[in-house]
Amino acid sequence: MDNCIFCKIIKGEIPCKKVYEDELILAFEDINPEAPVHVLIIPKKHIDSLDSLEEEDKDILSHIFIKAKDLARELGIAEDGYRVVNNCGINGGQTVLHMHFHILGGRNLQWPPG
Ligand code: 5GP
Ligand code: ZN
Repeated sequence: MDNCIFCKIIKGEIPCKKVYEDELILAFEDINPEAPVHVLIIPKKHIDSLDSLEEEDKDILSHIFIKAKDLARELGIAEDGYRVVNNCGINGGQTVLHMHFHILGGRNLQWPPG
């Protein structure tokens, strides 16, 4: 996807503070953190949103969640707890149309969201 910010980050055309990378996914610090720890995990494959997921993407999705858990521990937020969030579509508050999961922690997060 030529005009996708996150595809550009994957290709190295836009810099990021990388936290983790493998053949399937990339994790990096959010540019506008909403918590002391705020990391985004994205698939290297361009998928518009959770709503666009296909059956063939299930390995990517499970990999994202396993790594989210591992990263939360490495980032020191697992013991106190954290949140993994996906915003999907306009009402879900999605602003970047490349599916991503937020890992948020390091403070007491409020519920419900606004
Ligand atoms: P959404 O609102 O779509 O769920 O989340 C998009 C997130 O991407 C936001 O938290 C925003 O701060 C982050 N973001 C947008 N552009 C960039 C960028 O160029 N670099 C990084 N590291 N994060 C970005
Ligand atoms: Zn993309």
